[in-house]
Amino acid sequence: MSLSQLARTIRESATLKLNETASLLREKGEPVIHLGGGEPKSKAPLDAVINCASLLNTGEVRYTPPDGIPALKKAIIRYTEEHYRKIVSAANVIASGGAKQALMVLLHAILDPKEEVIFPAPYWVSYPEMVKLAGGVPVPVTAEDGSFTPTVDEIVDVVGSYTKAIILNSPNNPCGVMYSKDFIHEMVEFCASKSIYLIMDDIYNRLVFDGKSAPICYDFMKEPLEESKLVVINGVSKMYAMTGFRIGWAIANKRLIEAMATIQSQQNSGPSSPGQWAAVGALNGVQSSIESLRVTLENNRNVMVERLRAFDGVNLHVPDGTFYCFPDFSAYEKNSQKLSDMLLDKVRVVTVPGKEFGFEGHLRLSYCGTMKDITEGLDRIKWALDPNSPNELYLGDHKLVREYV
Ligand code: PMP
Repeated sequence: MSLSQLARTIRESATLKLNETASLLREKGEPVIHLGGGEPKSKAPLDAVINCASLLNTGEVRYTPPDGIPALKKAIIRYTEEHYRKIVSAANVIASGGAKQALMVLLHAILDPKEEVIFPAPYWVSYPEMVKLAGGVPVPVTAEDGSFTPTVDEIVDVVGSYTKAIILNSPNNPCGVMYSKDFIHEMVEFCASKSIYLIMDDIYNRLVFDGKSAPICYDFMKEPLEESKLVVINGVSKMYAMTGFRIGWAIANKRLIEAMATIQSQQNSGPSSPGQWAAVGALNGVQSSIESLRVTLENNRNVMVERLRAFDGVNLHVPDGTFYCFPDFSAYEKNSQKLSDMLLDKVRVVTVPGKEFGFEGHLRLSYCGTMKDITEGLDRIKWALDPNSPNELYLGDHKLVREYV
């Protein structure tokens, strides 16, 4: 079989692969705890379900405009006005099959071969592969001080003549860090001055804790949107727990949106219409589910952080948002893949190795599952790593006895 060079170089999504591994083990009756997941467990808002069901009841489920139905664009425009204090027009909006497709068509629309896209490490696993799919070169930037936030200068240092775009994901998957207002301000000004695309991946920006709120990039944009290379990406997956509906969007200048729509029209003719109607329902309906999800996640985070603090030698940045924690386990094992494999093998806990996010020694642990998953998952991890924990551990009915003391 001969596969393209591209197919041979693109790596599969580590997080989606882990979902597969977890469900295979569960099918075999293994008591797996999945702390590797990337989706809230709450139900989709009722308004989303009702709107989607109304369309399905007509039995007429058709193609839509490739860049989204007018009702969805209208709802996104209203959302943008309310949450970004920015008035945009329908020509500034494209709805896609998830934020992932919005990002992908964006990269296809802006990148020429070998052009570079910069993003801070740790980064979402998909950025490097998506940039490569679009023919570009991913350029991760790691802070010299070992923190999760490179300075503006460290980012500016890697900008060169091939730099086409910078992606900022705040709060960040995997570490939960929310970049400061000053940092966003400087990045918006820097990118405008160099005519570089600044892509704000805001998919988690409503899931923020401790009374904080995410800085709004448009507050620092001086030029009109039509002259700007600032692009905002968002979607319904995380804030409304609607991952399976596959609806995300991008907001940008009209010419760019038009180019993205043309590419999308040739890719999949536009997002699925039931998904779009569901998203309209979510965006226009009762909004309380976001706050209740946010409060649940904040509580889950607090429990996870408290449990992690009971580990000797685990370094932890308390997440400002998202549903991920990214503790440094290098005091136990420097190789994150080895550690993650060991935890799955020994105590049946799924974690994502930090190396997938460009940061060795760390594990990404999700707190979007049940409280029981969080407490029991961390108890199991502690048992596996801490020689001072009791000699025995029960995984369901199965008793594990420590082989090494
Ligand atoms: N950006 C980030 C940082 C994400 O974590 C994800 C989902 N894991 C996405 C984008 C894509 O979201 P969607 O489900 O809307 O495609």
